[in-house]
Amino acid sequence: MRHGEWPTGSLERSAMTDFVIPPPPVVSLPIAGNARRFPVRRILCVGQNYAAHAREMGSDPERQAPFFFSKPADALIVDGADPAYPRATSNLHHEVELVVAIGEDGAIAGWAVGCDLTRRDLQAEAKAKGRPWDAAKGFDQSAPCAALTLGPLPAPAGQIALSVNGETRQRSTLADMIWSPQEIVEQAGKLWSIQPGDLIFTGTPEGVGPLVRGDQVRATIEGLAPLEFTVR
Ligand code: MN
Repeated sequence: MRHGEWPTGSLERSAMTDFVIPPPPVVSLPIAGNARRFPVRRILCVGQNYAAHAREMGSDPERQAPFFFSKPADALIVDGADPAYPRATSNLHHEVELVVAIGEDGAIAGWAVGCDLTRRDLQAEAKAKGRPWDAAKGFDQSAPCAALTLGPLPAPAGQIALSVNGETRQRSTLADMIWSPQEIVEQAGKLWSIQPGDLIFTGTPEGVGPLVRGDQVRATIEGLAPLEFTVR
């Protein structure tokens, strides 16, 4: 689905529009080696996209088509900011992920290292009760993301990894993704109008685990700017 084919419901507003409250700021990602920024429209996330992680979460990876959930754009934490340990959980988990950014032509324009922070206890409760995942996944400051790299795909065999206080917790390769980034964009396009500024978090490999206040997280994908943050 190419950009512009579906109505989005948004309305054109002139710079002179008189809003009753100040409009929220445009959320954006820094770009590696470029002073310009990438404006973010929304964030979609793939649920399980590495076989070993699907198994550690109790699913059968062979039978699952990709499924999606979302985070609000303002859940992003960028420019080296540190996320606060969220309220209402005692089991915050890290999930390192390859993030794709949709460009002006509706195709993938760039790549980044992101972390899908998850209130795992709330997710387990939602799964058990058949409820939505929003409170588990789409909370404030739940999406730390490094600078975007414009250009071609990182090496498909490149390493994706995350360490906490210097100890490796997650390590896999992009080659272990069940659905490729391009396939994910195509699948998402069956469900939403994928537009310039959209980000898609493409799922995490095995090794997810808990974070506590003070933990120093370093997430890397070969060829991309690393993501580093400390849980406040
Ligand atoms: Mn995830």
